[in-house]
Amino acid sequence: MSHLLKRLLVLLGLACGAALALMLAAKSPANRSGGRALGQGRPIDREDALALAASPAPDGVGDRAMDHCRALVAFGPRYFGRPGWSQQLDYIVDELERSGVSTERDTWTDRRELITLSNVIATIPGRRPERVVLACHHDTKCTTGHPVDAHNFHFIGANDGASGVGLLLAIAPLLAKRDNKATIQLVFFDGEESLDFDWNVDRALFGSKRFVRRDVDARRSGAAAPIAAVILLDMVGRADMQIQEELYSSPQLRRICWSAAVATGHEESFFQVAEAATDDHVPFLEAGIPAVDLIDLKQNPYWHTARDTLEVMAPASLQTTADVVLTMLPAIESGLVGTPR
Ligand SMILES: [Zn+2]
Repeated sequence: MSHLLKRLLVLLGLACGAALALMLAAKSPANRSGGRALGQGRPIDREDALALAASPAPDGVGDRAMDHCRALVAFGPRYFGRPGWSQQLDYIVDELERSGVSTERDTWTDRRELITLSNVIATIPGRRPERVVLACHHDTKCTTGHPVDAHNFHFIGANDGASGVGLLLAIAPLLAKRDNKATIQLVFFDGEESLDFDWNVDRALFGSKRFVRRDVDARRSGAAAPIAAVILLDMVGRADMQIQEELYSSPQLRRICWSAAVATGHEESFFQVAEAATDDHVPFLEAGIPAVDLIDLKQNPYWHTARDTLEVMAPASLQTTADVVLTMLPAIESGLVGTPR
């Protein structure tokens, strides 16, 4: 064999090895980091917190959120096509309307996947038309029909799914009575979870991608005011909750979130670890809309397992998250609403 041919074969081998390594990395189960071409920010300086006035949630909000979680989990799995999916959607709309909040249900069929999905959007008018979006996903992970046996099990998503929904439903009556400067939208996304068991951004985030696409159109035609900020809640009720500093999130909103955790005395549950995670906030960021993801993913041993049940949840964690979100709101309203970006 000629020297040149040998070198070519070695190069070919190296290229194949690199391609294989890339394929394996893209299939790693927890690979929600780097799924999109967003730049990851550096962690904020935690010594440099803003002096925010705490506006914690009234006592009992965590308990009410937990009651909602209990009701939702009783519906069983809650992804497209399952009975629990439509029961949950009816429950969300009923509870919001009971809180005096006007609600829209946006239902569509994804043409490529042939699945029917539904976002719920509730709007609470404020003194200004600019919006602050508080969001979560309502779908649970589909854990049937996967080719690998270990990926098929009974999954009810007490934390991954129900916690965000339960928390938004518990604070909806408070926001309906609050003197809001911003118009507040509570948005419950469908189809956040990847259809493939392992994360595949092209088969996930269906609801948030659709919401942002429609919103960009509505803004272009003048039918909607800008979104000043998005606060996304994903897995916010685990007993040992650790909300990571999610590094795709807008640094300004991360700073407000950390400052709210300091103001309410909840530093131990926030930003002790930092890692990027692709989630429903990413379509907003890609459209240039500031967004922050409050997610307990990196240190969560129950994520996408049969152990994500009510037993590992705690009303105190839901209350902690409510304290931080309600303390972030006035800071966002005074800093971002009504001021040009
Ligand atoms: Zn999940």
